Amino acid sequence: MVRIALVFPELLGTYGDGGNARVLARRLEWRGIEHDVREVSMDDEIPTADLYLLGGGEDGPQRLAVELLREGGLVDRVRDGAKVFAVCAGLQILGERFAVEGDDEFPGLGLVGAVTRRGPERRVGEIVVRMGPGEEGLVVGFENHGGVTTLAPDVAPLGTVERGYGNDGRGDGVRTREVWGTYAHGPVLAMNPGLADALLEDVLGRPLDALPGVADELHRARVRATRPTS
Ligand code: GLN
Repeated sequence: MVRIALVFPELLGTYGDGGNARVLARRLEWRGIEHDVREVSMDDEIPTADLYLLGGGEDGPQRLAVELLREGGLVDRVRDGAKVFAVCAGLQILGERFAVEGDDEFPGLGLVGAVTRRGPERRVGEIVVRMGPGEEGLVVGFENHGGVTTLAPDVAPLGTVERGYGNDGRGDGVRTREVWGTYAHGPVLAMNPGLADALLEDVLGRPLDALPGVADELHRARVRATRPTS
């Protein structure tokens, strides 16, 4: 049984990242793997889960979400072995601290060695991240954020930026034992089935059979569409 918790969609749902939960549920269902996907609202207790999904959101809701997550014990759940997949604001609040509009800094959950400051401009547009070799190794999505994230020297990004900005123009997101993070919305797991399966394999601790189908074809088309035409 894979237990997935979509955390505070009313606060961290601005960019439709809740769709990541639906994608994971469907890919598990297609493979006949038992799963339970739960939406956790801000009035609910944070349930025990194998994977927590955090999405992007505006500065105010992001600040509220970090306090609720702190009180709700997300850090302990992760220390007990759970994983987190976090997008944009969700990623920023897992770091040591983050700044919002006006440059005020707020303490994050400290699950990732990362600090987010305000950048000189908002980064809005397409993002392409190289996670691995070949077309399958590219993650495509869109970003919309004012934060610039600096990872600690011993923390790896999810991948390197081929187009767009990500954390700092070079790397995007984060990949640790417990945390997968990216600046890419989409929902990113709908646009990148390979990333969805890599995440599920990490949560399950075993490789999965491929699910050939239209999702892979559309991903390839998306990757090609990001290439400059000659
Ligand atoms: N509020 C954050 C920022 O602008 C995150 C935005 C988002 O989640 N897309 O940096």
